[in-house]
Amino acid sequence: MDFNNLKSWESELNICIRCGYCYENCHIFKVTNWESDSPRGKLILIYGLLTGAIEPTEEVALKIFECFYCRQCEDSCSANVSVTEILTDAREALIDAGFDVEGTTALVDEDVCSGCGVCVAVCKTEATTLKEEEDGKKKSHIDKAKCEGCGVCIVACPSGAIKLKEGYKVSQEELLSEIRNLLGVING
Ligand code: SF4
Ligand code: SF4
Ligand code: SF4
Repeated sequence: MDFNNLKSWESELNICIRCGYCYENCHIFKVTNWESDSPRGKLILIYGLLTGAIEPTEEVALKIFECFYCRQCEDSCSANVSVTEILTDAREALIDAGFDVEGTTALVDEDVCSGCGVCVAVCKTEATTLKEEEDGKKKSHIDKAKCEGCGVCIVACPSGAIKLKEGYKVSQEELLSEIRNLLGVING
């Protein structure tokens, strides 16, 4: 197992001075408070995968697949490190290596998907395609390397076939719960 497709990022990964400006506005870091979930932490993990200092595991893969591509880390990076492009290439390498984790990518329930193609039309990253199954029916398939977890397909799907894993404080239920908690604090 190698991560040679990350070789072209080696010098850029070395430019990162680990200052930590990148994680101040990172939603994932705010949810977990783990350094390894911050943009800086992800870059260190990817550097470790590239050099072989870190073994790829499900846990490491999950960190790489947790990102909403808001690009706030890149906006605040004093060294202009291309965090999200590096993440996408790392995702491709991990998928090739057999790591099929969910993270913050959209998930299709094939039993519910009608194959209408609405998600394909709305996805700006071209992560979604329709694939023909053995029974001839078409089902939506999401490329986890390309999916940025924007949620547009989730809202657009007329069948309600797409969702995002709970735990990132972005689902309708989680947001409602946050609002209720906030109102509870305000109202005493
Ligand atoms: S692009 Fe990803 S890593 Fe960067 S701040 Fe946003 S969620 Fe965090
Ligand atoms: S929009 Fe929903 S029902 Fe239509 S193809 Fe996509 S996932 Fe399937
Ligand atoms: S969550 Fe956004 S990027 Fe991912 S498949 Fe849906 S529309 Fe595309």
